Amino acid sequence: MPLSIFNKYESEVRGYIRSFPTIFAKSQGAEIWDEDGKRYIDFFAGAGALNYGHNNPIINDAVIRYLQNNGIGHALDMATVAKREFIKSFVTNILKPRNLEYKLQFVGPTGTNAVETALKIARKVKKRTQVMSFTNGFHGMSMGALSITGNTYYHDENYGVPAYTTQVPFHNYLGGEVNTIAYLRKILGDDSSGTELPAAIVMETIQAEGGINVAGEKWLRAMRRICDDFDILLIIDDIQIGNGRSGDFFSFERAGIEADIVTLSKSIGAGHPMSLVLLKPELDKWTPGEHSGTFRGNNLAFVASRVAIDHYWSDEKFSLELKGKSKIVEGKMMGLSAKYADHINDVRGYGMIWGAEFNDPGLASKICNICFENGLVIETAGSDGQVIKFLGPLIISESLIDEGFAILDKAISTALAAA
Ligand SMILES: *Cc1c(COP(=O)(O)O)cnc(C)c1O
Repeated sequence: MPLSIFNKYESEVRGYIRSFPTIFAKSQGAEIWDEDGKRYIDFFAGAGALNYGHNNPIINDAVIRYLQNNGIGHALDMATVAKREFIKSFVTNILKPRNLEYKLQFVGPTGTNAVETALKIARKVKKRTQVMSFTNGFHGMSMGALSITGNTYYHDENYGVPAYTTQVPFHNYLGGEVNTIAYLRKILGDDSSGTELPAAIVMETIQAEGGINVAGEKWLRAMRRICDDFDILLIIDDIQIGNGRSGDFFSFERAGIEADIVTLSKSIGAGHPMSLVLLKPELDKWTPGEHSGTFRGNNLAFVASRVAIDHYWSDEKFSLELKGKSKIVEGKMMGLSAKYADHINDVRGYGMIWGAEFNDPGLASKICNICFENGLVIETAGSDGQVIKFLGPLIISESLIDEGFAILDKAISTALAAA
């Protein structure tokens, strides 16, 4: 058994190794090879951490050069050349062209760190403990982030984490007819609703893990107005949908709104661990060192990120390219939904994230297993794992999109023939 050493020594908590049971060895762009040389197309992109692809040569070259020159690797939050160059590039290429003004807070290198930080500063500034989040939201696994994550699979009552949070319906959670905005306004405005005024409302504009639920642009603007009217901070968790996944750098650009706080991780480090919180300047009420962390300065990630931002985000080319590619992916998904109309309830997505919802969650996971056997890495999402999710690297070629969807199509028919 090739996986026996993992099965014997690694905790039962291991997850993706079960969905993709092989030993991976090499990768390039949107392709991965296992130890035996078997090739896989990647429709998963490290859950959105590899938007610029595996071993992107532009990024790798810069990182290798930096290492060979004995560039600073770790420096807590001390000033380094790599960090300065990252800040310059981020401000010049990302914030300035979008007329956004944020202070940058570097936090520990995983997404859940950014979410904890956002919750902490929001509560501190507003002097309120309560926060509000949405059904099917996913924000990470540490205490605060887990408290606003919907799926009970990750919860155990003994953690005591749901304290001081209120979960409210996301756009279309109750179907198209129910006005979730009116509901939220009502409970916030009514002293007898039993809902405390929150410091912040935390949301993904497109719920990724939650099943590719795309909030409408009008709904997003209405949510912004609610926050303004009730003096609530809007935190947008752009950890998975930021960094170009929606076609723009930030996922909220399509709605023309601004968040008070933005969390970024996954692809912000261009393949290296990094996490960043953006704060409206007036919210930057930290005292020096009040919020800390040893690994806030992964300088390799700064180098990688800066090169990626310089290369992909200094003009509109990449964004336009993504919008074209999105149409291709959408077309492929629509094709599958027409062909397997009896089994696919819904196809939804935006930009470079798309999902096909199957009426049988068991079928969806079976299809992903067959895909893997046939050389395609693809995962499910949603409360019951009922949604097959396309999340390929943003740099994926049209021919690999074609090839991957052909494998998916064949896997669906194989699974149905066996059912
Ligand atoms: C992945 C994810 C997180 C958590 O990030 P980790 O690096 O796994 O801690 C938080 N929010 C969203 C939207 C995510 O997709």
